[in-house]
Amino acid sequence: QYKGMPKDRILEIRKQSYNPMTLKATYYKQPVYIHQGYMQWLWDTDGRRYLDFFAGVATVSVGHCHPKVTEAAEKQLRSLWHTTNIYMSSPPHEYVEKLAACFPDPLKVIYFTNSGSEANDLAMLMARLHTGNYDIISFRGAYHGGSPQTLGLTSYSAYKFPIANGFGCHNTMCPDVFKGPWGGKNCRDSPVQTVRDCNCAPGCCHANDMYIEELKEVLSSSVPCRIAAFFGEPLQGVGGAVQYPRNYLKEAYRLIRQSGGLCIADEVQTGFGRTGSDFWGFQGHGVIPDIVTMAKGIANGYPMGAVVTTKEIAESFAKGLHFNTFGGSPLACAIASSVLDTIKEDGTQQISATIGTYLLTELAKLRDKYEIIGDVRGKGLLIGVEMVKDKESRRPLPAETLSQIFEDIKDMGILVGRGGTFGQVFRIKPPMCITKEDADFFLAVFSHVIQKYAELTS
Ligand code: PMP
Repeated sequence: QYKGMPKDRILEIRKQSYNPMTLKATYYKQPVYIHQGYMQWLWDTDGRRYLDFFAGVATVSVGHCHPKVTEAAEKQLRSLWHTTNIYMSSPPHEYVEKLAACFPDPLKVIYFTNSGSEANDLAMLMARLHTGNYDIISFRGAYHGGSPQTLGLTSYSAYKFPIANGFGCHNTMCPDVFKGPWGGKNCRDSPVQTVRDCNCAPGCCHANDMYIEELKEVLSSSVPCRIAAFFGEPLQGVGGAVQYPRNYLKEAYRLIRQSGGLCIADEVQTGFGRTGSDFWGFQGHGVIPDIVTMAKGIANGYPMGAVVTTKEIAESFAKGLHFNTFGGSPLACAIASSVLDTIKEDGTQQISATIGTYLLTELAKLRDKYEIIGDVRGKGLLIGVEMVKDKESRRPLPAETLSQIFEDIKDMGILVGRGGTFGQVFRIKPPMCITKEDADFFLAVFSHVIQKYAELTS
């Protein structure tokens, strides 16, 4: 039973003394006050239980307060919490060995940070040092962090400040075949893969070619021959689980490398088996990046980030001294290590693949039934459902309707997320321990709510 601070007092403190931006980020009309979590469940201060289908943006990977992870944390808390960068201790080294084994060659050198933004900052610095170039390209609609440097890569109006954000960053068009200018109707027929296939007649929509042409434009017009890196998520998370056309990343990586730049995959949301059939999202594209960044699910909600790169890039980076007091502390590493073990022991990657594919398949049926579900996409347990006024225009549903649908889903006991420029994409990223019964409960709630609004809007 909840014995903490009363809700009105929490809200008062938030209004008086808490970072006021977080009030804007409070998703619901009436904030949800949570006080306990267990596996896929959250309880609010009134004792109401929610099925967590957002997991704090895929942060909770194996389940809230997972017993094995909690036990590992408790054990480490009682022995050593110190920094790892002055003295040596066992947990970071045990973890580095385990994590490095999860990557293909030549990605073998690991650095630790405390967050995804810090990991991306570090990757930017590495790429600039290694290439001697400065400019970096990322996708429009991407979120790569909120630090002054990564804000240049983050191309999402809601997160930008009215000052120069991250000098030397350029954005290319996200190859989004649903909302972007290129991509035929048939590019969205098979939602259960990392990439999208164009099933149009030959020569019909040219989606891949056109988005690659756009990248060439950015390369030649903004940064002729001086590119340090290309940053991209394998599936765009905050942008709304956007899948790129098959071969886009392969072709983009080839172009960037030809121009002297490095290819960086931001796996902050897509890593650790979330996409189901692959442990890393980049594997679904058949590419190997030069640098990969990770955070969120790495430690099941405990603050941690990491960067992996090649020995060669690590040597260039060794020109200066890199120090991070808490990054990869024994505590963080003991937790992350037990998360990695749990992913294997609990078979969460397989759950992502099976339940994710089931959800995507069932949601695609709802998409075919309702005019206001424009697109269903994603891979594994990283799913986006884009809500539209109508399938022809693909314009977003009005903001008020979107908010009401979102509230109704919550009132029926399920928490999902929102993404896309207009918050028009419902994001589904549960902890990877959900069951088919959970998926069925979500589908029942979602179709019930959608039916109501489909009738109202028709
Ligand atoms: N990259 C991606 C893809 C993210 O989704 C986020 C956070 N939403 C970040 C980086 C930044 O991570 P953090 O909030 O831990 O700094």
